Amino acid sequence: MTISISAGDRQRRTVLRAMMVVTALGGVLFAFLNLYRGLWPAAVVEFAFVAYSLILLPIIGRTERFRAWAVAYVIPWTGAMLSILAMPGASPSVFVWPILLPLVLHFLLGSRLGLFVSLASFAGAALLAWFRFGAPIESNSFTVAANFSLAGMLGLALANVYERGRERSERRLREIAATDMLTGLPNRNLLEETFDRLLAASSQDGEPLSILLMDLDHFKDINDAYGHAAGDRALVEFARRLRSELRDRDFLCRFGGEEFLAVLPGTSKEVARQVAERLRLAWREQPAQWGEGADVGSHSVSVGIASVGGDGTDLDTLLRSADQRLYRAKAEGRDRIVSD
Ligand code: GH3
Ligand code: MG
Ligand code: MG
Repeated sequence: MTISISAGDRQRRTVLRAMMVVTALGGVLFAFLNLYRGLWPAAVVEFAFVAYSLILLPIIGRTERFRAWAVAYVIPWTGAMLSILAMPGASPSVFVWPILLPLVLHFLLGSRLGLFVSLASFAGAALLAWFRFGAPIESNSFTVAANFSLAGMLGLALANVYERGRERSERRLREIAATDMLTGLPNRNLLEETFDRLLAASSQDGEPLSILLMDLDHFKDINDAYGHAAGDRALVEFARRLRSELRDRDFLCRFGGEEFLAVLPGTSKEVARQVAERLRLAWREQPAQWGEGADVGSHSVSVGIASVGGDGTDLDTLLRSADQRLYRAKAEGRDRIVSD
C-alpha cells in the first residue's frame, strides 16, 4: 500500500522541521542575550538545543520512524523549556510558553501522549511558578495565575478535542481507502499487508496456506441483459455468499471487477479445493433472479487455486499461478476449479 507516509505525517514533519529551525534561530538569539545578561546556565541549555535541532533536522525529513523521533525531540524540548522557567534570573515572560505547549504537543505526539505531556508540563510550570514567585495569594498575583491557568486549560481542551476528531477522521479515511464501497468487503489495498501477516503466522505454526482467485462466468451478460444496477446486486449477493461460507480467519477481498480473492490460512491445497467447490455450489444453488424475464448468465464461477510451498512463497508468485489456473478454468469451459 502506498499510504505509509500519510498526508498527516507529512504535515507533522513539516511543522516539526519548522519548529527545529525556529528553535535553532531563537535558541542562538536567546543564548547570546542570556550570555550578555550573565545567565550562562540558560545559555548552555539553549546552545545544546540549537545543536540538537540541527542534528535532528535532516533525520526528521526522511526517517520511517517519525513518531519515535518526534518524541525524542519534543519531550526534551519541553524539559528544556521548563528548566529555563526554573532559572531564577529568567524573565517572568517565559511563562507564556507553556500556554502554547498543548497545541504543539497534540499536533506532534497525538491526542493521548500529547494530553499526558501537556498536563505534566502544566503541573511542572505551576510548581515552578509557585517556587519562583510564591503562592498566588494576593489579588494581583492571583489574577495573573488565574489568567495563565485558564488560557492554558482552554488551549489544552481545544487542542485535545480537535486532535481526537482529526484522528477519528484519519482512521475513517484509512477504512474507506481499504474498503470496496459496493460489497463492503476489503479491497485490494488491504491484501498485501494482510497476506504478509497471515503468511508469517502460518509459517510460524508450520501450517499450509492457500489462495483462491474467483471470477464470475459470463458476468457481462447480466449487465447486458438487466443493466448495471442488476450486475451490482449480483456482485453484492456473491460477496455475501462467499463471506458466509468462509471462516472468520479467512481473508476475503474484492480483487477487482467481478473477481474475488480469498486467503485461507491453515489450509492445504486439497482442503482449499473442497472449500472452492463449496463456494462454487453456493453460487450455483438457489440462483437469484436479477431482473424480469428469463434468468440470464452468471450462476457459475471459475476458480484458480495456489498454495504456499509448491506454487511459491510470496504473494506475487502465488497470484500469478492462481491467475494462470483461472485462465485455464475459463478455457476448459468455465464453472470449474483448477489447482495444478
Ligand atoms: P468470463 O466468463 O470470461 O469471465 O466473462 P465475463 O463476462 O465475466 O468477463 P469480462 O471480463 O468480459 O467482463 C467482466 C464484466 O464485469 C465487465 C464489467 O463491465 C463488469 N463489471 C466489472 N465491475 C463491475 C461492477 O462493479 N458492477 C457491474 N455491474 N459490473 C461490473
Ligand atoms: Mg474478470
Ligand atoms: Mg468473469
